[in-house]
Amino acid sequence: MSMKEDNFSDWYLDIVEKANLSDKRYPIKGMNVWTPYGWKIMRQIDSFIREEFDATEHDEVCFPLLIPETEFAKEKDHIKGFDSEVYWVTHAGLDELDVRLVVRPTSETAMYPMFSLWVRSHQDLPLKTYQIVNTFRYETKQTRPFIRVREIHFFESHTCHVSEEDAQKQVEEDIEILAKIAKKICLPYTLLVRTEWDKFPGAHYTVGIDTSMPNGRTLQMGSIHHYRTNFSIPYNITYEDENGEHKYVHQTTFGMSERLVGALIGVHGDDKGLVVPPGIAPFQIVIIPILSKKNTEEVSAACVALRDVLVNAGFRVKLDDRNDRPGSKYYDWEIKGVPLRLELGARDMENGVVAFARRDTGDKGSIDINDVVPGVRMLLDDISECMYNKANEIQKSRIQDVDSLEDLPQDKILRFGWCGCEECGHKFEDTYGFKILGTPYHPEKFEGKCIMCGKPVDRPAYAAHTMSAPYSEAQTRSIRRFTSSTDQIGMMDIFSGSIRSVMFCRCDGIAVHQMHIFYGHGFA
Ligand SMILES: [Zn+2]
Repeated sequence: MSMKEDNFSDWYLDIVEKANLSDKRYPIKGMNVWTPYGWKIMRQIDSFIREEFDATEHDEVCFPLLIPETEFAKEKDHIKGFDSEVYWVTHAGLDELDVRLVVRPTSETAMYPMFSLWVRSHQDLPLKTYQIVNTFRYETKQTRPFIRVREIHFFESHTCHVSEEDAQKQVEEDIEILAKIAKKICLPYTLLVRTEWDKFPGAHYTVGIDTSMPNGRTLQMGSIHHYRTNFSIPYNITYEDENGEHKYVHQTTFGMSERLVGALIGVHGDDKGLVVPPGIAPFQIVIIPILSKKNTEEVSAACVALRDVLVNAGFRVKLDDRNDRPGSKYYDWEIKGVPLRLELGARDMENGVVAFARRDTGDKGSIDINDVVPGVRMLLDDISECMYNKANEIQKSRIQDVDSLEDLPQDKILRFGWCGCEECGHKFEDTYGFKILGTPYHPEKFEGKCIMCGKPVDRPAYAAHTMSAPYSEAQTRSIRRFTSSTDQIGMMDIFSGSIRSVMFCRCDGIAVHQMHIFYGHGFA
């Protein structure tokens, strides 16, 4: 196996293969097969997400995979621009379709026309929905399992509200839910309000959720958007208020994807393999029988009994009773990152104990067989806490305050003064190659000067190299020109997670531009 410190990229691919998380040999590049163990991890994450969104009264929906081209007939010109990243269905059987169908790259154009039918009165609000589906994007850059793929396992919530304030409360709720999910996966993250030129086009604002990877780059794991009425106007999602007046809803979205699996591999894994947080581990405990010739049956029976006790107590347990040496079983389960290994042999039985080994620290010890349930619970809780604390310490150590442009550390997340003006921001990004991730969603105390122009500032900005440079330089420039015109106020249409069709309006409502912009930072 490659070493994590030496070559993160090779190490990452090694782990995916050796832990059997996905198989990239499927004959479509970037469409990988979720093999059983990887899918078990994803399902654990999905079911926790479901639990949290159900508990906050979101309703799960499931929209069709295909979206008719007519949905965007009025933006026919734009479709040309999507061709490079969207999959089309053009035939049914032998017949060519009259109306081509888009394979969902994200679900706005599927959902919002329906929302406009579903929402009638203020009593229908808030409308809180979510779905967990696969989305498709013809990714032309180099693919990487879980991080950059063409078929993306994707969670997305979409909500409608009576007012901007109500939608703002939804953002706060999303942030609370995110905290629980991240804790479960032991992933630290930053919540940064994206720059004007990097926000989801049309969003009032975008909060990016980033974690930091061992190669010093940040990985966007998800994002939360407040849309105000920027989408409800073009999609005509209105409600009748108590006075019989028709108003546009305010909307939010929250999206995360299989990148969470990529993040957990990168953040927690080590040179022995994966380390899976107990909260989402398909198997929290693996039991290895230590057999000798004369007491095979006795030990085997004790291991089955031990498994049953732990399963009945609610743990996810694997009893590895394969006819193989314990040492080779240890190796297998270390690669798969099972948080806790229990070993039981004749000597342990005599002493009334079970031996254990922690995957995260390698620590070994034994638990009194009579206290095995509380003992295991304590160990798993401690493993979770240690994994989170360790990851959090590392993330904190990667953030570095800088007040000079000399010798910027390339493998750190920079924290620095930025006056917020686009000119300074673009100049910084273009000259130094870092991407500005944004400013803290939760205000941080800061006193400093804009690193470019020297103006005093009281809040910091963050910048880093990212795992996926979201768009090419030329595309970036087209966004910049676009948003820097002061009389343009919004976005009229949206299409894909990676490319969005945008029409800006002037304040008087007259469309002044229609163009495509490439945007890779939507949800995933
Ligand atoms: Zn400045």
